[in-house]
Amino acid sequence: MMFTVAIDGPAAAGKGTISKAVAAHYGFAHLDTGLLYRAVGAKVLAGADPVVAAQTLQSSDLNTADLRTHDVAQVASQVAVNAAVRDALVTFQRDFARRDGGAVLDGRDIGTVICPDAPAKLFVTASAECRAARRHKELRERGDDISADQVLADVIARDKRDAERATAPMLAADDAIVIDTSDMTIAQAVAAAVAYIDVRRT
Ligand code: C5P
Repeated sequence: MMFTVAIDGPAAAGKGTISKAVAAHYGFAHLDTGLLYRAVGAKVLAGADPVVAAQTLQSSDLNTADLRTHDVAQVASQVAVNAAVRDALVTFQRDFARRDGGAVLDGRDIGTVICPDAPAKLFVTASAECRAARRHKELRERGDDISADQVLADVIARDKRDAERATAPMLAADDAIVIDTSDMTIAQAVAAAVAYIDVRRT
């Protein structure tokens, strides 16, 4: 059985949490596609060429410990502007989406570019303030001593870069359901996603 769930949206809107919960609920595999760009970003920070890093990326590169840092996120969104980097990552994502047993992919362009034929598409969003507050808490818990103002400024800069780039900008597909998690609990957001996917599966 093949069934692809495409989940897009800006940073810290809750797509990762919803994706993991949805994958667990249906027994689907999950791919956080942001990790691909973060892994390329980490290699660039270490001195690699972005296109070569993307073309030679291995699955094992996604398990590197420091991909979740703030610095890597910023470089990831810079390399993600490069069309040749994006092209090099398409096949891996499409192969994952087509795997037997169902797949959930979360990112920025899954419903629009990677899997335009996905039967279930969600765009998960929240206000920039709300997302920055969540991300700040997460980074602080991980020992990152960054200020709330800095996180908000970086979230806004990253949103702008992701939404305004020429290739595969962050965008809700025309046929995606939009879930705004600003005033939702995790349980409510997951329930909304599952209710929609249940309908799409029948
Ligand atoms: O989702 P995450 O915050 O980990 O993504 C890091 C960066 O990777 C994003 O800011 C975005 O620029 C890029 N990205 C992308 N397309 C995706 C997933 C992530 O351009 N499908």
